[in-house]
Amino acid sequence: MSSDSTKSEVIFEGIPASPGIAHGAGFVYRKSELEVPEYQVPVDARPAEIKRLGDALIKTRGQIAAIRDQVRANLGEDEAQIFDAHLMVLEDRALITETERAIETSGKNVEACFNAVSQRYITAFAEIDDEYLSERASDIRDVASRVLHALLGKTSETLSEHLGRHVVIADDITPSDAASLDRSAALGLVTASGSKTSHAVIVARSMKIPAVVGVHGVLDQVVSDEDVIIDGYEGLLILHPSAETLERYGSLREEKQVFEQRMMAAVNEPSVTLDGVAVPLRANIEKEDECQLVKDHAGEGVGLFRSEYLYLAVPKVPTEESQYMSYRTVAEAFGAAPVVIRTLDLGGDKPMSGAPHLFPREDNPFLGFRAIRFCLKHVDIFKTQLRAILRASAHGNVQIMFPMISGTTELRQAKAVLEECQEELKREGVAFKSDLKVGSMIEIPSAALTADQLAQECDFFSIGTNDLIQYLLAIDRVNDRIAHLYEPTHPAVLRMLKEVVDKGHAAGIKVSVCGEMAGDPVYVPLLLGLGVDELSMTPPLIPAAKFLIRAMSMKEAKALADGALALTSGAEIERLCLQFYRDHMAEATG
Ligand code: PEP
Ligand code: MG
Repeated sequence: MSSDSTKSEVIFEGIPASPGIAHGAGFVYRKSELEVPEYQVPVDARPAEIKRLGDALIKTRGQIAAIRDQVRANLGEDEAQIFDAHLMVLEDRALITETERAIETSGKNVEACFNAVSQRYITAFAEIDDEYLSERASDIRDVASRVLHALLGKTSETLSEHLGRHVVIADDITPSDAASLDRSAALGLVTASGSKTSHAVIVARSMKIPAVVGVHGVLDQVVSDEDVIIDGYEGLLILHPSAETLERYGSLREEKQVFEQRMMAAVNEPSVTLDGVAVPLRANIEKEDECQLVKDHAGEGVGLFRSEYLYLAVPKVPTEESQYMSYRTVAEAFGAAPVVIRTLDLGGDKPMSGAPHLFPREDNPFLGFRAIRFCLKHVDIFKTQLRAILRASAHGNVQIMFPMISGTTELRQAKAVLEECQEELKREGVAFKSDLKVGSMIEIPSAALTADQLAQECDFFSIGTNDLIQYLLAIDRVNDRIAHLYEPTHPAVLRMLKEVVDKGHAAGIKVSVCGEMAGDPVYVPLLLGLGVDELSMTPPLIPAAKFLIRAMSMKEAKALADGALALTSGAEIERLCLQFYRDHMAEATG
């Protein structure tokens, strides 16, 4: 694409969220809340309203049947069945007759009547205290939304359905939107809100999609198909780039490619410091189809499998069998190397779109019904997952870890459910690894402060710095307005990390870090100097971390951490880390 010389260049500043440069046509994605109009219809026009309902039902039926066939072909019969349930909602005489009657009696338009009737059904089903029946509420919600879109002549497509080689520009995107993006279609991502550690951004990074977030007001100023560049290193969106800018970014892209090739050249070398300390570098993944990506970047197994991504974009809770197949695929791909499966961390910024009734709206979702709290309430969903993980453990070095543990009470409760599943499988004669390692994520300050107690009852710790920093510094990790206050180098963060590492080591267990801090080469020496044993990060970040580890000694890292612990501000510590990084990179790259 060439520059449009008739329009002058405009630069927007945001937060650099995923490295890389993208150039192409922008696609402005607005997720519209459907507004349902309400008006009176004259008596003689009411039969036409009823006919409109019939037409919309036929159109929706065609759409759903097409999706069902596609899902059946791509994912299998189990997943396709949900759409049979959706087709049955469309056949529901009660819903149709009641809507028709409402048009006759109230004299209102079909959209208003259909919306009122379907909302009544959704509420009634959602309130039933039965997992199966309350799930019907989400079926009706989904189908009703499609029918309303059809009535209003709007499309109800998802982001990925719209896209064809564009830079996506959105107010915000959900983690499931991000997970369903096609790398070849989404050249880059710009959002008006969000932060570096919001889950949609984490997904973009693992897909190597350059991203800039927190670009305020961008949606008011850019329209689809305009020429844009995004600079994921500096956090810039450049609208109508000039010829000079295009040339500058062309050269920068080449420079970055040379740097990346250099990192990749050493990717299969051992991850060992100059003074001989091995530092296992594992991968964070979201789906089983990322195994090859991990191998391409020489990840030593998986340190964090965010299993909730198997739940996010599907219309119902996945079955034990389908989860087992996903976990088994990953376990088998890595042989003896560990595959740490984190149990469900739904909630927060990751509600399950296919089952909204399970995630009622909350004022403070990050302090709310999330992760282990959700699992201990929905024990049947939890057990389905644990059974699937246990069965997969017969096929590799599977380990399990629980998210958002606040102290020993929750850890014991989670382990009790795990034991129940182990007993069940034993009775059924189903194979699983009997000495499966069980770890706890340390991402809530209360867990960090009771790390000595937790360490007595689990086999390893994995520190989730994304959440630990959020909860320790009281910074909502997805709020761009306070993103500048999210300081991984805050002295309190360093002290807390050191405390967890020391307590873990005193009890003889290993401590890894799987938050985004682990994949930032500027912080890698600091974490290792604080005594962290292993790091887990999104696969494309492994080569740079390894390159740096091979260029430094553990002795230097310890001195860096000691120096950092003596400082009193995050900015000073950041500078110290940056200096260490620059010096060692400059020396190693000549
Ligand atoms: C973390 O909190 O650091 C973490 C790894 O988990 P997530 O980002 O999925 O919350
Ligand atoms: Mg977390």
